[in-house]
Amino acid sequence: MPAQLISGEVIASRIKEEVKREVESLKQEGKEVHLVAIQVGENPASEVYLRSQSRLCEEAGIKHTLHTLPADTSEESLVAYIEGLNKDSKATGIILQMPLPKGINAQKVQSSIAPHKDVEGMNLANMGQLVYGKARLAPCTAVASVELIKSTVPAVRGKEVVILGRSAIVGKPLALLMLDLDATPTICHTKTRDLTFHTRRADILVVAAGKPGLIKADMIKPGAVVIDVGINRVPEYDVQGNPVLDKKGKQKMKTVGDVDFEGAKEVASFITPVPGGVGPVTTVMLLRNAVESAKGE
Ligand code: NAD
Repeated sequence: MPAQLISGEVIASRIKEEVKREVESLKQEGKEVHLVAIQVGENPASEVYLRSQSRLCEEAGIKHTLHTLPADTSEESLVAYIEGLNKDSKATGIILQMPLPKGINAQKVQSSIAPHKDVEGMNLANMGQLVYGKARLAPCTAVASVELIKSTVPAVRGKEVVILGRSAIVGKPLALLMLDLDATPTICHTKTRDLTFHTRRADILVVAAGKPGLIKADMIKPGAVVIDVGINRVPEYDVQGNPVLDKKGKQKMKTVGDVDFEGAKEVASFITPVPGGVGPVTTVMLLRNAVESAKGE
């Protein structure tokens, strides 16, 4: 039987409603949720993301302000600017827009954000809290993956969770969150010797490698839950294998995950689509973290 689709859109809209209610009740207590986004220099790619971030915040009742600093801002001045916002009680959450200009150490700057205002859960203090199982603010994609997994299984206790990818924003924090839920996580990466050995024993398989088609149906344990975090842009072909062209005769591109979806859905019990799976849930996790930040230290 084909796998059930896990709709990220449905889960995201439920979380958005919860966020709206929380924002409203904080308002009743006289607290305004205010997310400040900092961008250094102009970047067309981040403009799109920033517009959608601002629209989502507005829909949830969260105030969103963009602070654009000059492209030649030094690391010291950026840190000083953030320290100013840390002291500003009206800025309840801070998000640092990537990429930063060359020569600025992103990790260092990220860690200058006050831990309780770090809505991306990326600074050293919040990462440390994860190790102790006490994270209030954790990386959005990792928390989104937990949310998607929880929507499929009553409990992850004792389950074999295999995670592909060891990045600081997905693989590593997710493994820690899974440990807290009493699962048995394994992280695989480019130097893992026999990937299929691991993926085939996963009750829950989370793939965050950024490699289209990496996971084929025969690498999945029958009945497994498959969470595809990957986002890849690939050329589009029709059923005959011919390139699909746009009005200008240029080959169209489409977004796919890391999992061969058509094959995998015949083996898995639950699977996330790409797009429409992890992406929308990750986005609303930022809103949830913004609300958590507004509750203070
Ligand atoms: P990254 O490049 O930092 O890490 C990729 C990881 O995958 C590495 O640890 C690497 O060892 C592992 N890997 C790569 N190829 C592999 C292979 N052949 N076998 C085993 N392991 C392999 O990437 P990231 O920032 O963690 O993102 C991963 C993917 O998730 C990307 O496609 C990214 O666009 C996507 N992503 C999606 C969301 C979302 O909201 N849906 C959010 C963040 C990232």
